[in-house]
Amino acid sequence: MATNDYESGLKMLEELTTNARQIQDQLLGEILTKNAGTEYLSRFLHGQNDKRLFRKNVPVVAYEDLKPYIDRIANGEASSDILLAEPLTGFSLSSGTSGGQPKLIPVIDETTNTHTMYNNIFRSVMIKHFGDINQAGKRMELMFVKPDVETPSGLKATAVSSRFFKRSGFRAILPKLYTSPFETIVCPDAKQSMYCQILFGLIQRDEVVMIGSVFASGVLRGFKFLENNWQELCSNIRTGRISDWITDSGCKNAASSILKANSELADLIENICMKSWEGIIRKLWPKTKYIGTICTGAMMQYTAELEFYCGGLPLVSGFYGCSEGAVGINLEPRSKPLDVSYTFLPNSVYFEFVPIKEECVANSPNLVESVETKSSDEDTEPVELVNVKPGQCYELLVTNSTGLYRYRVGDVLMVTGFYNNTPQFRFVGRENVVLSVDLERTSEADLLKAVTEAKTLLDPLGFILTGYTSYGDTSSTPGHYVIFWELKAKESNNGNKLDPKVMEECCSRMEDSLHFTYRMYRRENIIAALEIRVVKQGTFEELMDYSVSQGASLSQYKTPVCIKSKEALEILNSRVIAKFFSPKTQLNLLL
Ligand code: AMP
Repeated sequence: MATNDYESGLKMLEELTTNARQIQDQLLGEILTKNAGTEYLSRFLHGQNDKRLFRKNVPVVAYEDLKPYIDRIANGEASSDILLAEPLTGFSLSSGTSGGQPKLIPVIDETTNTHTMYNNIFRSVMIKHFGDINQAGKRMELMFVKPDVETPSGLKATAVSSRFFKRSGFRAILPKLYTSPFETIVCPDAKQSMYCQILFGLIQRDEVVMIGSVFASGVLRGFKFLENNWQELCSNIRTGRISDWITDSGCKNAASSILKANSELADLIENICMKSWEGIIRKLWPKTKYIGTICTGAMMQYTAELEFYCGGLPLVSGFYGCSEGAVGINLEPRSKPLDVSYTFLPNSVYFEFVPIKEECVANSPNLVESVETKSSDEDTEPVELVNVKPGQCYELLVTNSTGLYRYRVGDVLMVTGFYNNTPQFRFVGRENVVLSVDLERTSEADLLKAVTEAKTLLDPLGFILTGYTSYGDTSSTPGHYVIFWELKAKESNNGNKLDPKVMEECCSRMEDSLHFTYRMYRRENIIAALEIRVVKQGTFEELMDYSVSQGASLSQYKTPVCIKSKEALEILNSRVIAKFFSPKTQLNLLL
C-alpha cells in the first residue's frame, strides 16, 4: 500500500466514525429508496421510504422469516422485486456451525466493493501498528476454499471466505504476498491442502512475517498438523520430492515449481521440531510479527494453546464480520483477545441494536459491574448505532442492500466505548447457543466464564485445556450439564497425571461460576451434578472433520459450544478417557 493509500485509509476511518449518524441515515434512505417497492417491503411501507415508518412498521425478523422469500429466489423465480430490486449475483453460504444451519444470504455486486473498502481501512490500521508487512515479506495464511453449491436458479452459493480467496485481485497478489500457491487453496482435499500449505510455509520460512487463518481454530489445526507430520515434511524438503499420497494435480504442479532438495533446511527444521514445542512459531518462522486470526467469542477457548505455540507473539483479532455483511474492525490490534473491541463502520450496513434485559456476562471484570447494575426496566425497542449505551449488551440487527431488513444476526455484543461518534463493541456470544436442561438458559458467555475459572486449576498440574464443548444430558432425571474437555500436557508437566480430586474441583468451580438460576436449580435438585468428560487428544479435530464432511467450510468452522447433533455427540462419547462429577451436594452450593 503506497503512503498515500495508507493515509487515505486512516482519513476515511476518521470521516466514517465522525459522521456515523449522517452516514447511517443516508444509507438507510438509499436502501429504502431502492427497495421500498419490493414485494416484501411494500407490505409494510406501502411504497414509502420514510425512516420512521420503517422503524415503526417493518418487523424484526430471523432467517426463518425471510427463508420463504430467499428460497423462491434460489429456486429460480425472477430475482428482482421479491426481497430486493437489484439482481443478485449469488448467495453467501453462512457456516451456521456456531449453533444454526447453513443459511443462504443474497449477494449483489456492491458486496465485494464494501469488503474491499473494509480491507483497505483495516490494512491502514495494521500498518500503523506493525509497519507494512507487504514490504517486509510474506504471510503464511492457511486458506481453504469450499466448493460452491449451485442453487436451482443457477446462482451459486459460496462461503464468504471462499469468494474472497477466489477473486482475481486476490489471486494476482497471492504469489508475491502469501506462501500458499492458489492451487493448494482450492484443492478439494482438506488434508492435501493443509499438508502443502504448511510445506510451502516451511520452505519459505525466512520470508514469513505473518501467520494466520480466519479463525483461531484454523491456525491451531495447522500447528497440530505440523506436530504430527514434521518428519514427513522434512523428508520431502530433504529429497525435493513430494509424498506419493499428494495426488491432487494442482498441488503436485505447485510443488514441482517450488520444492527443491535442501538437506540443510530439512536438518534445521528437524532440529527445531525435535525439541520443545513451546514457542515453536518464533523458532520456525523467526521473522513473524504477529498471528492474524479471530480469537474472540467462541474462539477464545483456543487462545491458551495458541499462546503456547506463539512464544509471546501478538494474537491479532482483526475484524468482526459475517455473511450478512462486513461489520467492524479492531483499531487496537495489539490488545489481548479478552480486551478486543470492534469499531463498527457505518457505511455499508444500517445497524440497530435490541437491548438485552437479562444479566449479560462479558469476559472483562471492568465491564461486568456496569452491566449488572443497569436498570432492568429499560426499553427493549431497537436503538440506532449512535444511540447505544456503554456497558449495555445488545443483539445485533442488520438492514442492508441485499434484502435483509431488521434481520437478527444472532450475535450479542457489549458496548465498550466510542471512537469519535461510533460505538465499539466486545463480542459476547451467539444469542441462540444455550445449554439448558430445564427452564434455565446458559449462554455461550456464561459457559466460557465458568470454564475459564475452572481451567486455572489445571495450571499447577501442567495441563492446558485445548478444546471444550458442552451437552445438556437429559437421559436421566434430573438432567445435568456434561462438559467435554480435551487436555494437553505442557512441556513442564513432568509426567503428572490427571488428579481426580483436582478434576472434581474443576467441576465444582464451574458450578460455582455459573449463573444464579443454575445454582438455584441445582440446590432444588432440578439439575444434577455437573460432569466433565475428558476426551482423547485429537477428538476436537475429528469433530471438525465431521462438520466439514457435512458441508461446513473449513475456513469458517467454529467448534459448537453446545452439541446438538447425535452424530457429533457419538464422536465425543466414543473418545472419552475419564469422567468426573462435581462432588457438591445440594446444600453446599453457593447461592
Ligand atoms: P459466517 O456467517 O459463517 O461468516 O459466521 C459469522 C459469525 O461468526 C458471526 O455472526 C459471529 O457469530 C462469528 N464471528 C465473526 N467474526 C467474529 C469475531 N471477530 N469474534 C467472534 N465471533 C465472530
